[in-house]
Amino acid sequence: MTSIREPGKITDNITLIDFKYEGVAGVGGVYLVEAGKKCLIDSGSKDGAPHVVKTLKELNAFPPDYVILTHSHWDHSQGVPLLRKKASQEQKSFEVFASEKAIPLLEDQSYNEVFKNKTFDNITDIFPLKEGDIVDLDGLTLKTIDVPGHSKDHIALYDESNKNIFLGDSIGIKIGDNAFLSPIMPPFWNTDDFYATLEKLKQIPFDSVCLDHFGYIFGDEAKAILDESRTVTDQEWRIYEVAEQNGKLDDLDFLVELFMRDMRPIIPELKVEKFMMRFMLGFINSLRKIARKEPFAVANILLKTTLEMKVKGYKIAKGIQ
Ligand SMILES: [Zn+2]
Repeated sequence: MTSIREPGKITDNITLIDFKYEGVAGVGGVYLVEAGKKCLIDSGSKDGAPHVVKTLKELNAFPPDYVILTHSHWDHSQGVPLLRKKASQEQKSFEVFASEKAIPLLEDQSYNEVFKNKTFDNITDIFPLKEGDIVDLDGLTLKTIDVPGHSKDHIALYDESNKNIFLGDSIGIKIGDNAFLSPIMPPFWNTDDFYATLEKLKQIPFDSVCLDHFGYIFGDEAKAILDESRTVTDQEWRIYEVAEQNGKLDDLDFLVELFMRDMRPIIPELKVEKFMMRFMLGFINSLRKIARKEPFAVANILLKTTLEMKVKGYKIAKGIQ
């Protein structure tokens, strides 16, 4: 075994909390890091925040002393307002940190409309982090490393004493041993920055990585993950190029077909945990019946909606309208 994808305590210092991305278990995580001080790495989404608060309370860790956001995408940042509201109801507060580059993006979260047709809460009062800055947790330190590509404001946090690195979304989405998607996402994907990020991360002697989507990866899998990330990103980019050449960038069925043929992922079974996602299932291609019978339907729907987002990242990067 080279990964832990079950929520709970994963090392002496780290607890994985599943915030149930879009109501689905096993695809969206935040991490509680505990030393003398307690720090949450990312907040999860707005819908996921009640679950994060509940879990932190069960762990006697609410509110944490600090929340560090790896980047300003909605599913990492939009939990902050609820976490702050719940803390203030108890006359408590906590410090929120993010890259200095994330601050204007947090202050105006409307760019997230590229992902979803809804409104997003703007987030202010953020303490800016820049390359090399250390967040001291009294007995453990987290070093800020700029890792752009997936998003221009993305940072990783390196715990040198445990040789563990929190990578957020910077190198991609890996929800199973052989289910790895690239970090290509709108609206700020930058291929050159991503390659530079991989080279930079290769200089860091980490033994384990924590991914927001999803889990704690160690051993040989962690050692190979940067090369694997580059391979899947190149493969995925090629899929979008082929779709573009065929005039089928907007044909999701075509994209899924190419993806399954070329990437050959082993899609894990995912469980729907909330009514919301079950409700949504009924409306996406009338898949309600299939969802009941077909255990992989949830993963397939998520793959389709994820590819729909990713192709927007490709189009923006290529200047395609
Ligand atoms: Zn992201």
